[in-house]
Order: sequence, then structure tokens, then C-alpha cells
Amino acid sequence: MGAGTKITIIGGGVTGYPAAIKAARMGAAVTLIEKDLLGGVCLNRGCIPTKALLHAGEVLHTVKKAGDFGIVCEGAKVDFKAVMHRKNAVVQQLRIGVERLLKAKRVRVVQGTAELADATTVRIKETGEKILSDCILIASGAKPARLNFEGCDGPDVLDSNQVLELERLPKSVVIIGGGVIGVEFAQIFSGLGVQTMILELLETLIPGADTEISRALEGSIQKSGTRVVTQAKVEKIERVKGRNTVSYTVAGQRQTVAAEKVVLAVGRQPDLAGLGTERIGLAQQKGALAVNGRLQTNIPHIYAAGDVTGGIMLAHLATAEGECAVSNALGAGGHMSYKAVPACVYTSPEVASVGLTEEEACKRHDIIVGRFPFHACGKAQILDQTYGMVKIISEKKLGGILGVHIIGPQATNLIAEAVLGMTLEMTVEELAHAIHPHPTLSEALMESALTLCGGAIHLP
Ligand SMILES: Cc1cc2nc3c(=O)[nH]c(=O)nc-3n(C[C@H](O)[C@H](O)[C@H](O)COP(=O)(O)OP(=O)(O)OC[C@H]3O[C@@H](n4cnc5c(N)ncnc54)[C@H](O)[C@@H]3O)c2cc1C
Repeated sequence: MGAGTKITIIGGGVTGYPAAIKAARMGAAVTLIEKDLLGGVCLNRGCIPTKALLHAGEVLHTVKKAGDFGIVCEGAKVDFKAVMHRKNAVVQQLRIGVERLLKAKRVRVVQGTAELADATTVRIKETGEKILSDCILIASGAKPARLNFEGCDGPDVLDSNQVLELERLPKSVVIIGGGVIGVEFAQIFSGLGVQTMILELLETLIPGADTEISRALEGSIQKSGTRVVTQAKVEKIERVKGRNTVSYTVAGQRQTVAAEKVVLAVGRQPDLAGLGTERIGLAQQKGALAVNGRLQTNIPHIYAAGDVTGGIMLAHLATAEGECAVSNALGAGGHMSYKAVPACVYTSPEVASVGLTEEEACKRHDIIVGRFPFHACGKAQILDQTYGMVKIISEKKLGGILGVHIIGPQATNLIAEAVLGMTLEMTVEELAHAIHPHPTLSEALMESALTLCGGAIHLP
């Protein structure tokens, strides 16, 4: 297959729309079907709006701390309506950009709900239009998971979509779930002055993250005033006189906490509703579409990518998978590599990682671990953001980089260097001896690598 191939993409999120642009660039005739908003969760209800809200909290923090830098700035307060207005404006501007890009690439965008009539025909539910295709990419994404306990569907119990539509800041909030979405919402609320608490079922926040880093994150969240209770099993939510009482158990002890709003941040599940995947016999695994390393389903000309395939649900990975899927569909070929997928948490301080955690690495390799604290980094001192470290996990004998974990200022930008290093199979020695600009936070990465080969300059 190649130029002129008819490809239909179901879902216009960060999997579907970049895949559509790539397929169009490769000469295919592309139809992209979206039932809601172009840009999907990431642009409309995920990455972009949450980071816009987080940034508002950072601005407030900067203004409040201005005195430390000799800048007199008084009377800072939150105008929540204006905060939400700006968030919406950023989202809208980016969405218009996506629409323009698709138009420029002559992608046919169909507004409607797609269902698979048969293995080569996609039907639009609202209009009955049938679209015949040589190949299909399913990129229908995921939706918030819900827990099932008494009171979980109360009017003050919000999922991530509902939080982003709030018209008024609550006075207090309990967040159920201390994964990435839960801690970011905690940061949003606490950053804007809301009394905030996180209840997490497992032992640490951000389950799956490097334990040392997630404990450091928990420490900083607690220090900033957000209460964190781990190993807490929520049992019910009762609503009395407009207040919600959340009951949970910790080590067999029943506890309660009251809050104006409760946020459910307990993960996401692939969205296959109404697609008709069973009708054509598409194989599933744990409620997600099953694919091989080329993102191909059990029906060879049907591909699936992004959140709908389960696994790691991250926007940048979804985009990479979508592009890989259309390349394969159009005959260019290639396997997805999951070796260097960064994961970021946009709290203050930020957390970012790539590769194996220390716990995973030491099960499979003989390892050495380098750590460089930000308090020894000149740029971090200038910014007055000295909490955290860069931690590098290296294979002892050959010096390969197995994982990099950062907690601290600009961690989510700094991790890109580690991603590049791991993608190019760099050694710690090569990273340590690459000349880094001064004064920058990136020097902390270099110094962390230096601790593994000769010693960091700025550590005793
Ligand atoms: C609150 C929150 C914050 C997040 N923050 C980050 C972050 O900072 N960084 C990060 O990497 N990831 C983040 N994520 C995850 C990221 O948003 C997802 O991984 C990403 O959006 C997945 O993209 P997707 O295209 O696979 O799915 P989606 O974005 O869900 O897009 C799927 C699209 O398909 C459409 N669709 C579904 N079924 C049909 C149908 N039958 N017909 C037509 N259209 C259909 C949907 O309307 C939707 O627009 C966040 C998620 C949430 C919820």
C-alpha cells in the first residue's frame, strides 16, 4: 500500500490527528472521524487544561514569594473565573490550530460517531454515511474509570472532566487516588488556596514510580500543606447538609474526613463503547484492543494506537504509536520502541523519569546509582528551587544508562536530555563529559553522571 491508499482514522485525539497528518504527508487519502472535539482528552480535558491551571497556581506562588527576591508585590488573589477563562482560551487556540493543520493537509474531517459496520466499512451513526477503507486506525482513547462504593455517584463527586468545568473554587477537596492525575489535581487546588487531601490505596504516591522519588514527592506535597494518606481504602461518601464525609480505613482503623468536593482520580479505561469491535471480531485484552509490536490488531488492515490499547496512557506515547501505526498501514514498516518513554508529573517540584526504576533495575542488572541534589546547583539557588535531585541508574560494568529520575525544578524539561541519551544508547561517561551550559539546571544531570565516573565537582 502507498500513495492514494484510503485510510480512515477513528478518533481525533493526540493519537488520531497527528496520525492523520502523517498519513496525508505520505500521500494517503485520509478521513478522520471525531464525535466530540478535535484534540481529544489531551487538548480539551487533559494535558493542556490541567497545565494551564497548574501554571496559574505557579504564578500566584511566584507573586507571593516575590518579596524573597526583593520585589514588592502585594494583594495577590485568585480570580477563578479569569483563571478558567484563560485555560479555555489556550485550549481553544490550540484546537483551532489543529483544525487548520488538518485542513492544510486536506484531511477530510467528519464530525460524528464512528462504528465498524464490517472489517472495511466505517458507518457514521448520525448520518448513516458509509466510508469504505483500505485500512483503519482505531484511536478512540479512554474515559475516566469509576469506583463502585456507596456515595461514589453523589453530586459533589467529580471526575477529571467535571473538575475542569468547575465554576467556583471549593473551599476543601478530597482527592481519591494518588496517581499522576490525582497529585496534579491536588497541586492545582492547593496552588489556588484550597484545603486539599489525597487518599491513596497503595503504599506510595504515583504507583510504579521510583520509590525514593515518590517518597520525596510525598514529602514535598505534605510540606506544602496538602495532607496525604497512603494505604487508605475509601469505603463510602455520605452527604450531609452540603458537606461530604469520606470514610476510609487505614491499617484496619476507620477514619473520616469532610470536604466540599470529592475528586475521583482512579485511572482511565479504554473506550470501545459503541464501536462494534465485537461484531467484526477484534481481539481484546483486559478491556483494551490487543495489538502487536506494529500496532496491528488481529485483523491485519486494522490498527489501533494510543489509550484504546491500554498500557501506558501518555499523550506523547499515543502520538508516537499513532504515527507508527499509519506508517505500518501504508507499508513503511516499523516496530514501536518502548525503551525510552518519559513520564512526567507537573507538580511543584516537578517529577520526571525515563527507563527503569531502581527497584526494577536491581532485579535485572548489577547497578550503580548516582545522585546529585539541586541544592548544590547554582541555577537552582538562583531560582530558589533547591528541593530534589537527579538520580541516574547505570549498569555497573558497561556504564549504560538504565533509568533517570528527576524531582526538582524543570524536571519535565530536563528529562528530554536523558530520553535522547537513552535513545542513542549513551553511557553515563559520555553524559558526564558532554559540556553543559552554565549556569543551568541541566548541569545537575551532568553532575549526577559525574558521581558515577570520578566524582561530581560540586559535591564534597
Ligand atoms: C486530567 C488528565 C491529564 C493528563 N495529563 C497528561 C499529561 O500531562 N501528559 C501526558 O502525556 N498525558 C496526559 N494525560 C493522558 C493523555 O491525555 C492521553 O494519554 C491522551 O489524550 C490519549 O490520546 P488518544 O488520542 O489515544 O485518546 P483521546 O485523547 O481519548 O482521544 C480519543 C478521541 O476519540 C474520540 N472517539 C471515541 N470514540 C469515537 C467514535 N466511536 N467515533 C468518533 N470519535 C470517537 C473521542 O471523542 C476522543 O476525542 C492526561 C489525561 C487526563 C485525563
